Amino acid sequence: MGKDFDGNTVVFSFTISHSLYTCPGCHGAIEVGGEHTLVRYVEPDGEAWHQHWHRDCARNLEREMKHLQTRPAAELQGRRGPKTGRRR
Ligand SMILES: [Zn+2]
Repeated sequence: MGKDFDGNTVVFSFTISHSLYTCPGCHGAIEVGGEHTLVRYVEPDGEAWHQHWHRDCARNLEREMKHLQTRPAAELQGRRGPKTGRRR
């Protein structure tokens, strides 16, 4: 989960396709019954849509987004527990 450069919230999840999709990343087909990544976008005003990506293509997308804004899981965990390691 992250934010893209338009300020939209982007959520990645794995899913199985029930019909034939075209991947926006490579414009290739995603076969019926194939595991792929569902990418959901939520705009700041609440409007949402989704796209179907190959897992590999979505990974590239994810990597691009991480350049813009990163929320590492370690940071969230550090807030909850005392396991930050800052004190010796
Ligand atoms: Zn693709």
